[in-house]
Amino acid sequence: MLFLAALVVAMPARAQVARPWGLPWAAVPGPVAGPPRILGSTNAGCILGAERLPPEGPGWQAVRVARNRHWGHPALLQAVRGLATRAQAAGLPALWVGDMGQPRGGPMPFGHASHQAGLDADIWLDINPKPASTAAQRETVEVPSLVAPGGDAVDPARWRPGHARLVRLAAETPGVDRVLVNPAIKRELCRVAAGPPWLRHVRPWWGHDAHMHLRLRCPAGQGGCSDMPPPPAGDGCDASLDWWFSAEARTPAPRPARPPQPPRLPEACAAVLGGSYPR
Ligand SMILES: [Zn+2]
Repeated sequence: MLFLAALVVAMPARAQVARPWGLPWAAVPGPVAGPPRILGSTNAGCILGAERLPPEGPGWQAVRVARNRHWGHPALLQAVRGLATRAQAAGLPALWVGDMGQPRGGPMPFGHASHQAGLDADIWLDINPKPASTAAQRETVEVPSLVAPGGDAVDPARWRPGHARLVRLAAETPGVDRVLVNPAIKRELCRVAAGPPWLRHVRPWWGHDAHMHLRLRCPAGQGGCSDMPPPPAGDGCDASLDWWFSAEARTPAPRPARPPQPPRLPEACAAVLGGSYPR
């Protein structure tokens, strides 16, 4: 309980507990030891044997480590490290790595509906050189939106070719399922480079104007892990992208949306939360 209180204090002021069922998952300090094993999906799942990305490494700095959300399947850690290495080789500065997963996965009390199975990582869309810093100094960093007011296009004052390079490198990560970016960012990528296979993995989503969301497919041998349907064929530079700029996509629903409901986790996740490794 003491730990939970500390966690709440560590949250940024604007973070709200929107999903109280995530609180027990956020309160566990560490993973369940054992071979890595994912149960369920990124929207309703948990993980055993998760590993923690260290606060710094070659080509990356973890951001807001006090949230204790830099855990994931070893394949995710490998993907983040590999992306950092390839970004460095492409002349990009160190990456800022935001939220990944909780030590045992599961739903989060605020911030993300997914990120539950150790397969998601938020990478900030910031290509400025990063001075050496402590994890504590990175608790409060902010990155401005890359999207112009109105949401139709990227902000020409901020968007640079290096941002496109970084999204492309993420979309070329082995084992990638999707890289979620703001529709205006996807539109800009299509404008410059429609056609290449990597663009299929870059999908538009609300928000994501200052970070991208890297999601992996279930790693090999993870029988209890379920994937989302793969992205549709093609580069996605089509009517499905145009929809995001339509009145329908931008008009709020007439009635307040149903309050979020707890995800239906696999039954064995209760044991995972309790700290045991289910057979
Ligand atoms: Zn995310």
